[in-house]
Amino acid sequence: DKTVDIIGAGLAGSEAALQLASRGVRVRLHEMRPVVQTDVHHGSDCAELVCSNSLKSTKPESAAGMLKAELAGLGSFLIEQAMLNRVDAGGALAVDRDAFSAAVTRLVREHPSIEYIVGEVEQPPTDADAVILATGPLTSDSLAAWVAERAGSDNLAFFDAAAPIVMADSLDEAVLFRQSRYEEQAVGDYLNAPFSKESYDAFIDELLAADRVIKKDFETGDLFQACQPIEEIARKGHDAPRFGTCKPVGLTDPATGRRPWAAVQLRAENADLTAYNLVGFQTNLTFPEQRRVFRMIPGLENAEFARYGVMHRNTFICAPELLDRTLYFEKASSEVPVYVAGQLSGTEGYCEAVMSGLVAALSVYARLVDVEMPAMPRAMAFGALLDYATDPNTEGYQPMHVNFGIMEPFEQRIRNKQERYAAYACRGAEALESYRLALQEAGLL
Ligand code: FAD
Repeated sequence: DKTVDIIGAGLAGSEAALQLASRGVRVRLHEMRPVVQTDVHHGSDCAELVCSNSLKSTKPESAAGMLKAELAGLGSFLIEQAMLNRVDAGGALAVDRDAFSAAVTRLVREHPSIEYIVGEVEQPPTDADAVILATGPLTSDSLAAWVAERAGSDNLAFFDAAAPIVMADSLDEAVLFRQSRYEEQAVGDYLNAPFSKESYDAFIDELLAADRVIKKDFETGDLFQACQPIEEIARKGHDAPRFGTCKPVGLTDPATGRRPWAAVQLRAENADLTAYNLVGFQTNLTFPEQRRVFRMIPGLENAEFARYGVMHRNTFICAPELLDRTLYFEKASSEVPVYVAGQLSGTEGYCEAVMSGLVAALSVYARLVDVEMPAMPRAMAFGALLDYATDPNTEGYQPMHVNFGIMEPFEQRIRNKQERYAAYACRGAEALESYRLALQEAGLL
């Protein structure tokens, strides 16, 4: 006889609704489409894939593949529907988008415990036992205002301007040097990539010629006002990056004993120093072009990208400030417990949204039946993301896919990349098994 309001029938909200309903909880699932449309959705079905129809790799030795195994192992309804509506796409899981959304819609609408309510929710109802906010990157203005009031306006972002992140062990340490500006010694959290005049000129030429993602009109205004992509800075003048983002002042390249012509700074993403972001390199280049052009930066010739740079409209809260590992948003309300799932919670990606919906549902269910929610191990792909995204020490958080860059390193470094990825997958599979057991023992699975 417990009731949960879920706002948003996207990927996270639909998964959460089906999880709770399958455990006998009454769900009121609120969706504003088609009465109020977003700028990216086209139809009115649940779980619409707004862009690509690919749910990424199924390869077990990849972070995306690990996440899929975790979703399947925890009984995700949406991943099951994705498999049933699969189309050929090599090593990736791609779906017939209409058939997939129609199938999820059918499951949701036909479930006796789910009441489907069409209409925009301006503020969450307070007469249920819990609320899950899953309103996604295009959360409506009224609800965003409600969230901002509780989160603090500094903790709610409306766009995402993230620079690429590269894996530390793919960088050429013979070329890069560790130094903070104006420091003599090799100290600091920064690695510096030194450009000569020739390598800088060649880089800027390719940066200007590279293919970009075409922005929709609604995105360019807000986004570009707040943050310029590196290629747009270069378009203002060949030397503009050299006097801004790539300025070499205060740096001395130990290899030459001189200040480089220009430099890219890489800042550590985590205390384990397993991943670095390219400071100031927000970009609209397509992913293949980022890989091609940013590999022209000295020391990054073989760089592996843990995340590519993105710039798009995206509503998300500052999870490290506001959420705990169960996705509980304590500051939101004193009347009814509020949880956040999907892109609004600060994850990025279709499968990540589905998993966060599943985690939020399990957390809510644990609260309703009054048992402690077991912590998802950090060795799982989504466990690593949860850990990183909800760690109060994480600074400047930007939404992120699951990736190997944020996983706990092994005590003994595994140099061979394939072997290392296989080891992550193997450790993750064991962690998933122990997590499943813990959930079963708690009566949650
Ligand atoms: P959604 O799937 O968007 O669901 C949120 C739902 O809430 C929507 O149905 C919306 O109508 C509803 N809603 C909003 N406000 C209210 C309200 N006040 N009341 C009631 N209902 C409300 N990820 C990928 O992996 N691959 C991609 O190719 C990809 N492309 C993207 C392209 C764009 C332009 C954007 C913005 C994001 C993209 N993402 C992509 C990121 C992300 O994976 C998707 O946005 C994903 O759909 C997020 O799932 P969600 O459940 O959080 O949100």
